[in-house]
Amino acid sequence: MQAFDPERYSRQIRFAPLGADGQARLAAGRVAVVGCGALGSVVALALVRAGVGFVRVIDRDVPELSNLPRQALFDEADVAAGLPKAVAAAVHLRAINSAVTIEPVVADLAAANVGDLLAACDVVVDGTDNFEARFLVNEFCCRAARPWVHGGAIGAEGRVLTIVPGRTACLRCLVPDPPAPGMLPTCETAGIIGPAALVVGAVEAAEAIKVLVGAHDKTAGRMLVCDLWEHVWRTIDLSVLAATGCPTCRGGDFPWLDGRLGGRPTTLCGRDAVQVMPAAGGVDLAALATRLATAGRVSANAWIVRACVEPGIEIAVFADGRAIVSGTRDEARARGIVAKYIGA
Ligand SMILES: [Zn+2]
Repeated sequence: MQAFDPERYSRQIRFAPLGADGQARLAAGRVAVVGCGALGSVVALALVRAGVGFVRVIDRDVPELSNLPRQALFDEADVAAGLPKAVAAAVHLRAINSAVTIEPVVADLAAANVGDLLAACDVVVDGTDNFEARFLVNEFCCRAARPWVHGGAIGAEGRVLTIVPGRTACLRCLVPDPPAPGMLPTCETAGIIGPAALVVGAVEAAEAIKVLVGAHDKTAGRMLVCDLWEHVWRTIDLSVLAATGCPTCRGGDFPWLDGRLGGRPTTLCGRDAVQVMPAAGGVDLAALATRLATAGRVSANAWIVRACVEPGIEIAVFADGRAIVSGTRDEARARGIVAKYIGA
């Protein structure tokens, strides 16, 4: 049995479905949290407080003032310091529970590193803000037969789905074709309220705990959908989708892992700019310009939409979905900016 302080976790141990055996499993458990923004913050907080033995926190971004209403791990000092989110998160998490091994990873999850970053973890938890990363996680987990917890929040809405490859529907069963860049609202264009992220992160953490102690049979494959504004909560049974499966979870087709889908950003030679290739398909420039108008100054014609989205940063989007981010040579940052504003 894994060592832990029984007094510290006495209230969890008293919860009968967990008990001392469950606490020992948590202490021996290893979790990868992909993305440490609104959802990942809450997931990491809850799992570290619960005494999960190893938590790897993967994030490519730095905290900003506009993150603070919903990203529970960060404060004004973190924004001023400008440290990467994963690093700042590790400082806070270690102060909360020194018995947990926290491993911060400052990286953009990609086909080239997903195997290393998600290996040797019992469960992967989705704290990302983009479909490319989610599909990479889905394919890695399907190939490795690894359970993972998908979560998403936007506006006042949220959803959570625990995926057990081979037994439940996977993300591709649910979303056969990943949305093209600019087709979906993002937190930057549609907004989000903090409680939605707190709820989704908390449910994801509970699901991860259940996976670690082997108590996820009843909820895996059943997607929670909630709307905090309308006070609507429902669960959707996806077993019909699971019965047939999809090319990834049943057919061993891994286009994101194989590099057939998803583009790597490229620093533009001689320019303070990075080109980010589209994840899939083209982009509706008119719709994009309308949405971006809420985030910054926009100019648009039939071929390109330009927007000053952050101080010193201009993003230019072409009809094929290709984006050039000017004002940076940092590929991970440019990729983050495109994900935030274009939604790819
Ligand atoms: Zn599937």
